[in-house]
Amino acid sequence: MSTFRFEALKETANRKPVKVEELDKKSIIFGSNVFNDKAMRQFLTSEAHKAVKNAVEHGTKIDRKIAEYIAMGMKEWALSKGVTHYTHWFQPLTGTTAEKHDAFFETSFDGSDPVEKFGGGQLVQQEPDASSFPNGGIRNTFEARGYTAWDPTSPAFIFGTTLCIPTVFVSYTGEALDYKAPLLRALTAVDEAAVAVCNYFDKNVRKVTATLGWEQEYFLVDSALAASRPDITLTGRTLLGHSSAKGQQLDDHYFGSIPTRALNYMRDLENECMLLGIPVKTRHNEVAPNQFEFAPIFEETNLAVDHNSLLMDVMQKVAERHAFKVLLHEKPFAGVNGSGKHNNWSMATDTGINLLGPGKTPMSNLQFLTFFINTIKAVSSNEELLRASIATASNDHRLGANEAPPAIISVFIGEQLTKVLAELEGVSTGKLSPEEKTDLKLNVVGKIPDVLLDNTDRNRTSPFAFTGNKFEFRAVGSSANCANAMTILNSIMAKQLRDFKKEVDALIDGKEMKKDDAIFNVLREYIKETKAILFEGDGYSDAWAEEAAKRGLSNHKTTPAALKAKVSESALALFEELGVMNHVEAEARYEIELEEYTKKIQIEGRVLGDIARNHVVPVAIRYQNVLIQNVKGLKDIFGSEFETVGKEQISIIREISEHISGINTQVAEMTEARKSANALGSSEEQAHAYCDNVKPYFDVIRKHCDKLELLVDDEIWPLTKYRELLFTR
Ligand code: ADP
Ligand code: MG
Repeated sequence: MSTFRFEALKETANRKPVKVEELDKKSIIFGSNVFNDKAMRQFLTSEAHKAVKNAVEHGTKIDRKIAEYIAMGMKEWALSKGVTHYTHWFQPLTGTTAEKHDAFFETSFDGSDPVEKFGGGQLVQQEPDASSFPNGGIRNTFEARGYTAWDPTSPAFIFGTTLCIPTVFVSYTGEALDYKAPLLRALTAVDEAAVAVCNYFDKNVRKVTATLGWEQEYFLVDSALAASRPDITLTGRTLLGHSSAKGQQLDDHYFGSIPTRALNYMRDLENECMLLGIPVKTRHNEVAPNQFEFAPIFEETNLAVDHNSLLMDVMQKVAERHAFKVLLHEKPFAGVNGSGKHNNWSMATDTGINLLGPGKTPMSNLQFLTFFINTIKAVSSNEELLRASIATASNDHRLGANEAPPAIISVFIGEQLTKVLAELEGVSTGKLSPEEKTDLKLNVVGKIPDVLLDNTDRNRTSPFAFTGNKFEFRAVGSSANCANAMTILNSIMAKQLRDFKKEVDALIDGKEMKKDDAIFNVLREYIKETKAILFEGDGYSDAWAEEAAKRGLSNHKTTPAALKAKVSESALALFEELGVMNHVEAEARYEIELEEYTKKIQIEGRVLGDIARNHVVPVAIRYQNVLIQNVKGLKDIFGSEFETVGKEQISIIREISEHISGINTQVAEMTEARKSANALGSSEEQAHAYCDNVKPYFDVIRKHCDKLELLVDDEIWPLTKYRELLFTR
């Protein structure tokens, strides 16, 4: 008898929902574990408080002496909340967050004078042992040193009994080793470029902030059931398992009532989020069974990225209290919808204007159109790079699999805005006549707010859709760090806005055009140039793949193919021009992402081989032996008639043998394919070999195993089944 699966099922059957204490009103507890404005006012001198504020708002540096005062205040605040340790919290390129805890506590060497200490030095900089984080060959091992540096734009927070200080992670030679450093540089670039363009419309704009509101999808699986599956434990997804008789066909889960255990988990998680200042707002069931979503109120992008990374950590920790495992993987179950993380993105001015929200006057609408059309242009000129920003081994399962946007990047804008663009395109070249201008302002630009009110047509198949006052980048993976997509999106936008400004200025200076005329002229050209990227139809259809190819759009279905765009000459030049990454950093990142891809497929291949050979095959043989005994018995009773009486059994015995031999030969071949891939010289070659020569075995091996699952006695099947993983509440 296989026991692990049944023990897990028994354990699960006895679960009770975990009680969750109601804390105070959300508005009262919100941010109480964050060193925010309120805490700073209480624990910092006004000079120190001002220094932090200036750093946040204007990027000014904080000098060492002030840092000393800030550290003192931060320590007092933390101690008042029972904190014992501090850590620099950072986001290395491993996809998870990293922390190394140090105690505040110190004594002299003889144990006298015990005190709690935390100074400016410890706040500003730390040296984690960086050698085991991926660096893409930037650091030679002999100088395997990097340091984390305080990022005052993201406030420190307390988790458990640890003070966490958000930091960037850089090498001693100055190269970024994390997600955050390039993101911050991209945000600065888009800020500067957008302010320059805003000043055409309003001289008072000083700062533009990119905003991000993510929507996190995830699965909840009982922790005992998850632990009973080596594939979930080691790879975060199921590598085999026959589909459940009931899946998501009935669509009865989407927005349905949330099961109590899950609801209690969410309430607990929401409380934690409130304390941490993560403004989560909505929770609901998603399409697949046991799939859910969490979404916050949008925030400044750097903070939103930190909050999403933090949330992904906290989700797992809170899940332990409720005997759940959270699956953030993009495709935990075959045949069931996977998870994504829509990135809602816009830009806001310090004068309170959402640049992708239509305004009240024709002039503010011209500003809206400027940013709207520039976004389309940015995506149009950089579609491959944007595709690369979301490429991971796990996201490959979604993109192009007809449940998430396709691997082809396109922009959806809706019927009304399509009409607006068509009218703008008709604007005559050169200077506009006064009548033309009046007509434009009154009848086209002026009417945008009205047309947007009923812009309800949503197209779920679009990877990049305009949804009324923001763009929604829907192709981001559920397990991804948003920084990757946000760095690239904001970089291409920054570059586009710079180019736009140059073109408009050239018309104003060179052709003595009025500002509005010049803007209309450039926008009209953009509308003409970007038609290929606009698509309103069904992104899942084969017709679109054909059409997109004709339009010259890329369609990279796999990560190794998609990633290449990150190191194209134009991408390297773009990053370098904006100061987001130099070519060493960009190339290192490319290496790291290729290696990550290879490792993921390699691990999956090993785990699958192990499960197939060591779990599935032995059980299949055991069951086959039962059948053989049975047939032998039939022969004893029925003599030569046994072949008719035992026909079904004999046929199953044969089928089992076929699948067993299928598994054994395919696993052996896959192992050989891995060996040849490992022997290749470059990361690029290895990643391609894993993608093209190793991964295809997964489906074949899985098919044999899943067939066996249908044949073998349920009572001895060792692996927890899909119906149990997906429908246990
Ligand atoms: P849905 O897309 O699920 O229908 P909504 O349109 O209400 O939901 O919003 C989805 C997300 O978009 C939310 O997380 C919200 O915070 C975010 N969002 C709304 N406005 C903006 C904005 N200006 N910038 C960035 N994100 C935004
Ligand atoms: Mg959405």
